[in-house]
Amino acid sequence: MQKNIPRVCLTLTSPTLSENVSLVKKYSAYIDLVELRVDYLNESEQNFVRRFPAMIPFPCILTIRRKNDGGNFYGNEMSRTILFSRALAFANQDRKKNFAYVDFEEEYQVPSLQEAALSFGTKIIRSVHDMKNPIKNLQARFSDMHAKPNEILKIACMPHTLSDITEMFAEAKTLHGFDYILCAMGNLGIPSRILAQKTNSFLTYTSPKETEENLSSVRHLDPETLETVFHFKSLNDETKIFAVTGFPLTKTSNPFLHNELYKRHKKNAIMIPLASTSIEESLAFANELGISGMAITVPYKEKVLPYVQNASDEVKKIEATNTIVKTDAGFFAYNTDAFGFEKALLEFLQTNNLRKTRIAIIGAGGAAKAVAFVIKKLHGNACIFNRTLSKAQELAKKYRFYFAELSPVSLETLQKFSNVIIQTTNVGMNANTESNEETDPIYFYNFRGTEKIFDLIYTPKKTALMKKAENAGCKISNGFTMLRYQAEKQAELFQGIKNE
Ligand code: NAP
Repeated sequence: MQKNIPRVCLTLTSPTLSENVSLVKKYSAYIDLVELRVDYLNESEQNFVRRFPAMIPFPCILTIRRKNDGGNFYGNEMSRTILFSRALAFANQDRKKNFAYVDFEEEYQVPSLQEAALSFGTKIIRSVHDMKNPIKNLQARFSDMHAKPNEILKIACMPHTLSDITEMFAEAKTLHGFDYILCAMGNLGIPSRILAQKTNSFLTYTSPKETEENLSSVRHLDPETLETVFHFKSLNDETKIFAVTGFPLTKTSNPFLHNELYKRHKKNAIMIPLASTSIEESLAFANELGISGMAITVPYKEKVLPYVQNASDEVKKIEATNTIVKTDAGFFAYNTDAFGFEKALLEFLQTNNLRKTRIAIIGAGGAAKAVAFVIKKLHGNACIFNRTLSKAQELAKKYRFYFAELSPVSLETLQKFSNVIIQTTNVGMNANTESNEETDPIYFYNFRGTEKIFDLIYTPKKTALMKKAENAGCKISNGFTMLRYQAEKQAELFQGIKNE
C-alpha cells in the first residue's frame, strides 16, 4: 500500500510574529504547515500569540518548549499553562483562525486545556523528547504514552550512532493504525528527516535558513533545500535511494550533483548524506533501506574494501574506492575519483597524455593515490611531496616516482617538477585568505608564471595557492570539474545515466 506523503512543517523561532509571517511567506511554496515556537518569541509578543493563526495561510502547531526538552522556555509550569490557555482561548467559528494543533509533552496533562483544544478543533500532538539519547522499542514506547484517541504521538531523540537510525527505520515498519511523528536529531539524524516517507511519519520538521542557528543541535534542513535538492514531495515506495557516506560529513556536494542529474534524466532516485562513525554501520543502514549504491568518502575509502566482493582494476591498483554498487554477488567497488581527475586534468591541460611533463603531486593521502595512478597511466614524470615523508615514499615506490618532504628544504626539487603542480592536501580548504604557512602547502614557492596549477579543493573556488599562482600569470583550475565528472560517472554506475 502506498504511504502518505509526510507534511513539511516549518518551525518558526523568530523573536516577533511579523518576522515569522515574513518567513512563512518566503517558504510558502515548500511547506504544508508551520509550528510557532512561542518559547522563542519576545515576552511582549507572547501576549499576541492568539492572533497568529489568522495571520498565515497554513495550519499552525502551537508549541511552548521547556529548556529541559530542548526548548527556550525558562518560566514555570504555571506561566506556561497561562500562555497555552491564552493562545487556545476565544475560539473562532472559522477553524482556520484557531491553532490546528497543540504540542503537549507526554506528562503535561491539563484536562481543561485538553478539553478546550478538542472542542475548538485543535488536535493534540503528544510528544516525548530525549535531547541526549536515542529512544528504542518505539512500539512499546508509544503504547506507554497512554494517548487519547485522535492524539498524534511524537518521538524526537538524539542518536549516538547510525545504528540507532537504522533501528528507527526497522521499527517504524511495525507501527500501524495511528498517526505518529518520528525524528532523530543531529547530523546523524538527517536521513530520518529526508526519508520521513519511509518511516511513515506524519510530518517532517524544517527551519528557515535565517534561523537555523536557533536549533543548531537539532539540524533541521530548510524546506527549500528539502524540496529542490532532495525532491521530498516526489519520494515514494519506488524511489531508489543512494547515499554518500563518511564522517563527519558536515558538508558534501555529492547529493546536490546526483539529485540534479536524477531530476534532469527523470529518474525516481535520490542521494542522501549518510554520516556514520563506522563503515560497518553505513553498510547495515544500506541493507535495511535497500540502498544499492554508495559514494564513499573520508575516512572510509580504504576501510570499506574488506566488505566488497569484487573491484575494478583501478581500485585494485589504487587500493581505495569512492563508489560501491550492489550486484547479485555483493558490492562491486569502483574509483570514479581517478576517472573524474583524468578527464578534468586533460581538459585543463588540453592534451591527451603527459609525456615529457614534470609534475609535482602535493600530498600523499587518499586523493593523491588516485592522482598518482592517473599520472602514471598518462606517462607523466612526477615527484610526490608530503608532510609525512614515509607516505610520500610509499606512494612514489608504487609508480616509480620521486618523493620529497613538503617543506622549504625541497624548494629546488619542486622547481624541477613544476610544469604542472597538483595540490591534493586539504590545506587551504574553507580558508579565503592570502598565501601563508597555514593556508598554502607550498607557501615557500615563487611562481614563474609558466606553471599550470590544478588544486583538488573546490571550496573556496580559489584557494590561497591558486590566487598566488594566478597573480603570477599561471593557468589555474580548482577541483570542481573533477568532482562533477566523478559524480557523473557514479550516476552512470548507479542509474545508467550516460553523460555526453
Ligand atoms: P586525506 O586522505 O586525509 O589526506 C590529506 C593529505 O593532506 C595528506 O597528504 C596530509 O599529509 C595532507 N595534510 C593535511 N593537513 C596538512 C597540513 N597542515 N600541512 C601539510 N599537509 C597536510 O584526504 P584526501 O581524501 O586525500 O582529501 C584531500 C583533499 O582533496 C580534500 O580537500 C578533498 O576535499 C579534496 N578532494 C577533492 C576531490 C574532487 O573531486 N575535487 C576528490 C577527493 C578529494 P600527511 O600525510 O602528512 O597527514
